[in-house]
Parts: sequence; C-alpha cells; structure tokens
Amino acid sequence: MNIQRKLSNGTMWADTKEFTDKYIDGALAKEAEAKLFIRSPKREFLVSKAEILDYLASGKTLKYGDDWYAELRDADAAKWQPKLRTAQAMTRCECGHDVPAGTAMSSSRGTCCPGCYDRMSD
Ligand SMILES: [Zn+2]
Repeated sequence: MNIQRKLSNGTMWADTKEFTDKYIDGALAKEAEAKLFIRSPKREFLVSKAEILDYLASGKTLKYGDDWYAELRDADAAKWQPKLRTAQAMTRCECGHDVPAGTAMSSSRGTCCPGCYDRMSD
C-alpha cells in the first residue's frame, strides 16, 4: 500500500510516508464524528486502522480532516482501478444498422443511420 493525501490543488496526491498513522488517526476521528451525526443503517463506520486500510485498498478515498481536499487514498489501489468507461448506448434503426442513441435519423421509411439516409428517403 502507499497511502497518499490529496493536495489543496485538488488534483495532485502526495505520499504520507512516516505520517501515515497520523492521517489514519484523522480518518478514524472523522468516522467517529460521522457516526455521531449520520444515523443511517446503510452506513458502515470504520473503527480500526485495519478497517481504514481495507477500505482504502478497495480503491476508495476517505476524509481525514475538515478541509475539502482532506482525503486519503491508496495509490497502489488507485493504479489498477479500472477507468470508468462510458458505455455508449446503441439504437437499432429500421435500416438494420446500430447507431449511438440519439443519432438515428428519421426518413420517410423510418429511422436509419446516416449511411442509409439517401436509400431510406424517397
Ligand atoms: Zn443503415
């Protein structure tokens, strides 16, 4: 693991190195604080250093302080986190071709792709 904290520019992360425990203590304090205010049965609170580390190892981030950028992450977990691929929804046109949703054209013989537009319109 390589626990990093977010820098105040919001896009860069720095290794916590020998201060890792201090930041983890901060994260535990934030969790304890959240437990007092958030009364949701869905929310699980982390109560030990091991739980904090497990949570970060899953690729998620955790608050360790009040600043908006006060977040921790595990750089090793972040590395192999799959990039969110934006799945493009496709629509089947009446010409028989699939096009990205929202780009189907309407012709006099129904919906079609740009390539079939001339053939499909009289
Ligand atoms: Zn077509």
